[in-house]
Parts: sequence; C-alpha cells; structure tokens
Amino acid sequence: MSSRVLITGGAGFIGSHLCDRFIAEGNEVVCMDNFVTGSPDNIAHLIGNPKFKFIQYNVTDFIYVEGKIDAVLHFASPASPIDYLKLPIQTLKVGSLGTHKALGFAKAKGARFLLASTSEVYGDPLMHPQREEYWGNVNPIGVRGVYDEAKRFSEAMTMAYHRYHSLDTRIVRIFNTFGPRMRLDDGRVLPAFMKQALLGEDLTAFGDGTQTRSFCYVDDLVDGIVRLLRSNHTEPVNIGNPDEITILQFAEEIVKLTGSKSNISFMPLPEDDPKVRQPDITKARQILGWEPKVPRIEGLKKTIGYFREKLGLK
Ligand code: UDP
Repeated sequence: MSSRVLITGGAGFIGSHLCDRFIAEGNEVVCMDNFVTGSPDNIAHLIGNPKFKFIQYNVTDFIYVEGKIDAVLHFASPASPIDYLKLPIQTLKVGSLGTHKALGFAKAKGARFLLASTSEVYGDPLMHPQREEYWGNVNPIGVRGVYDEAKRFSEAMTMAYHRYHSLDTRIVRIFNTFGPRMRLDDGRVLPAFMKQALLGEDLTAFGDGTQTRSFCYVDDLVDGIVRLLRSNHTEPVNIGNPDEITILQFAEEIVKLTGSKSNISFMPLPEDDPKVRQPDITKARQILGWEPKVPRIEGLKKTIGYFREKLGLK
C-alpha cells in the first residue's frame, strides 16, 4: 500500500536519496528543507512530479503540513564536521527544537517517526567495533559536541515520545556514508580526497592518517533505513558498512582509482577526531535481514563520475 511521508532535510545528501526511493516505490513525499546545507540541485529532478511536494522551511519552527502523513523521517541537520563547526547553534537547535517539532508533528498526525541518528553518539569510542549497547565517549563541551550532544538529545527525546506518548518510533545510527550528491565543499574526507585527486592536488590526510573509518554506499544505507522504518524495532540500530580502512589507505585507494598523480600530505588532526570507527551490524543483520551489498571500491567507482561532473571535468 502506498503511503505519504514527510522527509525533513529532504534536499540533503541522504534525504534526497530517500525521496527518490519513496517516489520510485509509488509513494507520496513531502520534502522539507531550508537549504542551509541541502541543495535544490538534489531534488530538481523531482520538481513537477505530482507525488512530490517541496516546502522550504526551517523545522525548528512549528511544523504543519496539510493532509495525512504516515511517516516522518527526520533527517534535517548539518552533518559534516566542517558544517557543524561553522553552524554550532543551528546544529544544536535543529537537533533539539527541530526534533521536538518533528516529534510533535508525528504525534499530531498519528505517524510513525524515524530519527536519523549517528555513529557520533559513540564519540571517540572505547569499544570497537561499536555495538548499539555502548553508551559512548563524548566530550560535551568540545567542538564536535554540538552535533554529538544534539543527536544524543534527539535520541532521548525520541525515546521519551515513544515511552510517554506511545509514539511509534525508530532510531537509525548512521555511520560514514558516501555517494553522489555529497557536497564538494562539505569538508568530509571523501569529497575532499576526490576533489584533490581529480584536480591533481595533494590529498590532505589529517593527523598521521592511522585513524579509521568504515564507508557505506548510499544505496545500501537507504535500503537499511527503509527496512528499519518498516520493522517493529524501536531501539537504535546501526546501519553502515563494517569494512574498515585507515584514512591513509583510503587516500591511496582514491589516488589509484582516479588514476591521479597526486601526492598525500599531512595536516593537523582536528580536535576530538575519533581514532576508530566500525559499526557492529549484528542487530541489523538479525532484525532487518540487512547487510551492505556494494563493496567500497564499487561504490567509489559509481561516485567518481558525479565528482568529475561537479568539477566540470566531463
Ligand atoms: N580527514 C582527512 N582529510 C580531510 C578530511 C577528513 O584526513 O581532508 C579525516 C578526518 O580527520 C577523519 C576522517 O578523515 O579522521 C573522516 O572525516 P569526515 O570529515 O569525513 O567525517 P567523520 O567521520 O570524522 O565524521
């Protein structure tokens, strides 16, 4: 049966891929975004589709949408370290006030609510790989705290609505994800390395490059999120690709894949940069029957064309 969903942050990287997925399945999508970090380009192809409605709006204000809404997917937030360092107050506000408004809206509509949470709730983790039971190691007053604590608050608020208002809720903890529609200048490692490799500039590895991350292709992530939404599991679930790599190896991989002649140079490590990160996806495997299908190399190959085009190299 088709449904009508509200996606906050729907013009962002992940939000816009979610819009595509729901539209492709014949559902109606109401997409809400204020373009602080999202972009009209990400949803341009959906404008004019009768099943797609766009509302330019800041979700920290009272949310109202006419008609039935079956599910609210709350994805509005700056999400790259550079973005939330530049927008600390907006990040805290969308995570707190915005989550409260989105939850209140879901409650008013009798809709299911799914929160986009993050591996950042684990901070600089002392447990490896990270299981959902781990409470994390977050510096509340550090520069990354604005995002980490906003998302931790969002989780707490979501569980409170679940427990005290019996709202039907889901929480996905999203690990590093990549694919087309990432912003070239969002400061994340993949757009930075892609741009540098394609332009023949030095790839800037922060610290000594021994810190690790585990990168998931966006189509796999979207599939995990949709499965979680349709499950009946109300506790947080990690969605990510457990294939872990050091940042230095990742730089070398991108140089090789792009056929670039770039060198790698080293820059200071940002404050509170997590040393390791790898999702334990046992729960997603058991509860959702989900695991990533696209190997990192395949995903990178699918993504290079997008970055070439963005850089005007085609
Ligand atoms: N990083 C890097 N060079 C860059 C950008 C990021 O070495 O130009 C590192 C960063 O210090 C971190 C990792 O790559 O250890 C992933 O950073 P990103 O900003 O993509 O997201 P995070 O996983 O830290 O949220």
